[in-house]
Amino acid sequence: MEKVKFYPVKGYIDLQKNAASNIEGFWKKEAAKLDWFKCWDKILEWEEPFAKWFVGGMLNASYLCIDKHLHSWHKNKVALYWEDEKGNTKAFSYFQLYREVNRFASMLKNLGVKKGDRVVLYLPMIPELPIAMLATARIGAIHTVVFSGFSSHALADRINDTSAEVLITADFGIRRGKYIPLKEIADEALKTTPTIDKVVVIRRTRESINIEPGRDLLYHELIKDAGDYVEPEPLESTHPLYILYTSGTTGKPKGVVHSTGGYLVYNYATYKWVFNISDESVYWCTADVGWVTGHSSIVYAPLLHGATVLMYEGAPDYPSPDRWWEIIEKYGVTIFYTSPTAIRMFMRYGEERIKRYDLSSLKILGSVGEVINPEVWEWYCEHIGAERCPIVDTWWQTETGGIMISPVPGLELVPLKPGSATLPLPGIDAEVVDEEGNPVGTGIKGYLVIRKPWPGMLMGLYKDPERYKMVYWSKFKGMYYTGDYAIKDEDGYFWLLGRADEVLKIAGHRLGTAEIEGAVVKTPFVAEAAVIGKPDPIKGENIVIFAILKEGYEPSDDLKKEIIKEVRKQIGAIATPQEIHFVEKLPKTRSGKIMRRVLKTIIMDKPVGDLTTLEDEASIEEVKAVYEEFKQMMKEA
Ligand code: AMP
Repeated sequence: MEKVKFYPVKGYIDLQKNAASNIEGFWKKEAAKLDWFKCWDKILEWEEPFAKWFVGGMLNASYLCIDKHLHSWHKNKVALYWEDEKGNTKAFSYFQLYREVNRFASMLKNLGVKKGDRVVLYLPMIPELPIAMLATARIGAIHTVVFSGFSSHALADRINDTSAEVLITADFGIRRGKYIPLKEIADEALKTTPTIDKVVVIRRTRESINIEPGRDLLYHELIKDAGDYVEPEPLESTHPLYILYTSGTTGKPKGVVHSTGGYLVYNYATYKWVFNISDESVYWCTADVGWVTGHSSIVYAPLLHGATVLMYEGAPDYPSPDRWWEIIEKYGVTIFYTSPTAIRMFMRYGEERIKRYDLSSLKILGSVGEVINPEVWEWYCEHIGAERCPIVDTWWQTETGGIMISPVPGLELVPLKPGSATLPLPGIDAEVVDEEGNPVGTGIKGYLVIRKPWPGMLMGLYKDPERYKMVYWSKFKGMYYTGDYAIKDEDGYFWLLGRADEVLKIAGHRLGTAEIEGAVVKTPFVAEAAVIGKPDPIKGENIVIFAILKEGYEPSDDLKKEIIKEVRKQIGAIATPQEIHFVEKLPKTRSGKIMRRVLKTIIMDKPVGDLTTLEDEASIEEVKAVYEEFKQMMKEA
């Protein structure tokens, strides 16, 4: 078998250029592939930086993902397989999914949920999560999924920003054999969320939980009164499908709002191009539905295509490091989409375990969430894909709504280069620019920007148009600023180089330094804190904290433990710091901004670079000394 790296290019680059020169005509053709209740009057209304796609068109996501398939043989094919750590399984045909979604939608209506209402979903990876999303979309309500690893504080912040009245949660999540008390965490959040009127609790265990009379309702009780059919609400293309919060450079998460029409058109088109998805696909994306990848890749895109989705609840290597390979073999997975962090973890476990399984059903392998280093790419290609499956390294963001830079084997497979996400998708005008917004040219590091609107782009930040303008559209005139660094090579291929702003990627999860610093200073003894990301061979980055103690406190391990506890309480376990260092001073500019860049160079043993704006040189010497001492201690340990 010829190695995928040497496939020929035919006309992809021409296709990409033509699409970019006629954006509206190009996307019109893609939009026509969906069933609209009413056709649009206008393809794009662009009042920079606000885009409205397919204006005047009416459609419904739940109809397109389910009802549409009932008119063909898809009706009785498996839409969703679910499996948990213990090997418990469930399967839903498209017809069964339709029944579940309708009943859930009827339950929401009985609770008084209407078009435009926000419904917060704080659920583990159980089938009720996609069912709830589709049910919400069916009646024109707007879902906000909060990742079930987030803490009560993070949940409360998100509920309060949306001022939702209904929360849907479960008694427990299950991970590594342990019960995660989601209802208890939600109860804590609910102490500070005055808008929530009703809480629907999905029971998974017989463990006792707190039930607040009048507020908390059990799903299995409510569903008894639900009807079997709810008419899918015809919705304007620009009606919000969902709000999803993501970290930014301030402590307050941003509520990214996605439209119905543009988002669905974009995801329908791009999943065909990137994954060559079809109704024969068994599609497994290992992300949590709580992230954008889960929204597009576990719910909307595969179901729009009538594919079979696989959803797994549990840690990748529990109860054994064979778990994922066993699942691929068992379900005959054809498309597998995961993160570099997971691949790096499996590299450590070695290849022997993988060889025990038949992975020959695989056709395309995907990577997302962080930079994939060439060695990891090669390993993935060789040991999981047997050198016959193209690797699609897909670059995108919560804000972009769908994949933006990636190989497109469903259209034309360009030669792959390990470590590069290759070329922008057709219709995507991506560029790498300098501080002034001018293209930097070949081989020079710059900022990744998108110069034309695309249907999957966010409509804005919930109730905060000014922040939307400021974060994404103020750095460069007329260009969407991604916050990422990149380089373009001589073939026009994009090489992503990580974040250019104060955002970290921990095991592919996005966390803001300001958000973590905010949590650290909530402890009664920290006066000031700076958070930086330190490269980690598995997780991509780890969290390192430098903290200044208030007067009267002495550095100690107990204080470090308190800080860890507070960060986990404020954000969740994903933000657990790896290292904490106490200092007297932090390097700052004369205007008082913490120079995190300088801290990072010190811990990485690199030259600190330009220090002309530094206020006090002694701070650098102190950080260096503290870090040297730490390294020495680690060596001795
Ligand atoms: P999120 O919105 O949480 O999905 O995070 C988006 C960020 O993840 C991007 O801005 C990038 O920094 C990073 N990212 C996503 N996909 C890739 C990729 N394929 N290669 C490199 N970085 C990526």
